[in-house]
Order: sequence, then structure tokens, then C-alpha cells
Amino acid sequence: MRGVDGLAEEIRDVGFRCMRCGACCSEVSEGSNLVILSPAEVRRVAEAAGLPPGEVAEPYPEFLDGPEKSRYTFDWSLSRDEGHCRFLDGERCRVYAARPWICRTYPFMLEGDRLIVSECPGIGTEMTMEEARAVARALLERQAAEAAEEEGIRRVLSTASPPPGETAVVDSEGVWPVHG
Ligand code: SF4
Repeated sequence: MRGVDGLAEEIRDVGFRCMRCGACCSEVSEGSNLVILSPAEVRRVAEAAGLPPGEVAEPYPEFLDGPEKSRYTFDWSLSRDEGHCRFLDGERCRVYAARPWICRTYPFMLEGDRLIVSECPGIGTEMTMEEARAVARALLERQAAEAAEEEGIRRVLSTASPPPGETAVVDSEGVWPVHG
């Protein structure tokens, strides 16, 4: 796992400031910018939005074939409205304080120890070391949260599987058949 300071230096060298263009909150090409959520993140967003969890997220739309004609996907996807995140209000995020890890850390992500930088008009903008450290800390926390979620999914799948013939979401808290 990388240290905060080394990662922060790399981030500062890339440079970033959000221009509030909203592109990362929108589908800019087919299936792009989907935001994957753990069950804990679904609850956090739902609470911030004052909505039931079923109204803020849907099954992540990449299904695998399971045993006995079942299908399943891992985790959830933030709901969209006409190609935009349903919480995007002009250039404002209505659940900003409760936004998921992916939104908190965009346009950066870690693949193991490697820093990946996605397309974004804010890249290349000067940032302070303190700002870069904040992003680095968030990226490392995100990586730990994602590893915990993956471990939880493995644990669930070691004792349960999607019901025969049904479509289900598998997350770290269980197997959830999807109806309709
Ligand atoms: S993070 Fe980048 S793509 Fe997203 S709103 Fe800010 S400038 Fe636009």
C-alpha cells in the first residue's frame, strides 16, 4: 500500500481542480461514468436524499451467468435521470456531503499502487500539497473500503448463491433477488 506523501506528490504533479462542468456526473458515452456503490454507500446517499435505498440505486448493469440459470451482478449503481446522476442539480450535487468514494476521488483512482487519472477538464490545474494530501488520503481510504467490500462479497458467495432462474445482486451483506 502506498504512503500518503508519495501519492500526494504524484497527484500534485498531475494537478487538479474541479471546474464543475458536470461531465463526470453524466453519461458522456454509452454506459460511461456509472458510479458503483457498496450497500453502506447506498444507505448514506439515501439518508442524505431522504429517499428509500431502492430509489437511489439500481443493480450494477453488468451481469454474470450463475448456477442453474441464475444471473448476478456485484453491488449497486447510482441512479440516473436522462443520462445524468439524479442528484445533479445544475452544477450542484444534492448529496455532496454523502457522495460515494468514486465521486469523492474523481478523476483519480488507484489500481494497486498505480495512480490512474481519468479524462477531466480540471486536470493540469495547480494545487497545493495540502489539497493533494487530502485527495491521497481519500484515495487510500477508498481503496481500503473497496477491498473490504470485495472481501465481504467473497464471504457471501462462499455460503450463498443467486436463486435458480433468478437475477440477483450480490453485495457484502447478502444476495438480493431483483424483481421486475
Ligand atoms: S471532476 Fe472533472 S469532469 Fe467532474 S465536474 Fe469536476 S471538472 Fe468536470
